[in-house]
Amino acid sequence: MDNKIFFDHDSLISDDGISNKTDNSGNETIKEEIEKKSKSLLYSTKVTCPVCENVFNATTVKSSAYRMINKDSDFFIRYSLINPYFYDVWVCNSCGYAAMKSDFNTLRKTEIDLVYKLITPKWRGRTYPEIYDVNTAIERYKLSLLNYIIINAKASKKAINCLKLAWMYRLLETENAKEIELRYLTQALDGLNDAYYVEAFPLYGMNKYSIMYLIGELNRRTGHSDQSLIWFSTIITTPDVKDNLKKLARDMKYLIKEEGTTNAKSSSLAATTNNKFSANKPDEENTTKKSGFLSKFFKH
Ligand SMILES: [Zn+2]
Repeated sequence: MDNKIFFDHDSLISDDGISNKTDNSGNETIKEEIEKKSKSLLYSTKVTCPVCENVFNATTVKSSAYRMINKDSDFFIRYSLINPYFYDVWVCNSCGYAAMKSDFNTLRKTEIDLVYKLITPKWRGRTYPEIYDVNTAIERYKLSLLNYIIINAKASKKAINCLKLAWMYRLLETENAKEIELRYLTQALDGLNDAYYVEAFPLYGMNKYSIMYLIGELNRRTGHSDQSLIWFSTIITTPDVKDNLKKLARDMKYLIKEEGTTNAKSSSLAATTNNKFSANKPDEENTTKKSGFLSKFFKH
């Protein structure tokens, strides 16, 4: 485990090059309107921390506010109106415990002790604005990832947390963010590979075949085409798999083949699947070498 833990939020933020600046574009009236609208889509849930028993308000998105626009090929859902992923992590400001909300109350006694011993003494406290943006979301997903690492959580938890972090970086749409996205996708893949063989399905609502597809797709996105083709082919030839998942696997398989022959000249399919990485990504080695915050935690 990497013991270099960042609880200074400035260094946690600057570590991965997230901008701390607020967006000054657009006029104040529009910003206020958007804020007002966003607030109307949120409500507070009273949560009792399983570690320190502090009761706090967790900001939650009203389910009626979910507006799905489309889905990327690795299951990342694009939303309009408000982004529910931003509010997926709950943080107890009293003790520093953080987790994705579906895991928040599932701590065992030994895990509670670990948070108390290793997180709480270093926790400095943090206040967040009422409305979260992508940078806040990234910070909160990192805090929850840190907690998962400290409590030796299952590989699937760390993997899904890393996947969501990768998606948040995807939203930033900068060259630097793309590199970091790839790093978290790689870690998500490592974790899912472990989880696939040792954990019981479903995992985060995904059955065995969905996880197989996701492993195939993360292999594709991280430049491991050969591995990817093996997973996709298995899905396509397994009788029990639903047609829509088979179709996705076929589309991605086609995309790999097409990239192999045409060197990926932005095909329409590539554009719709947010394919940013070609099969033989030249700077992949460079990316993985650049080890940053939490980069080694899946190594045994
Ligand atoms: Zn707490």
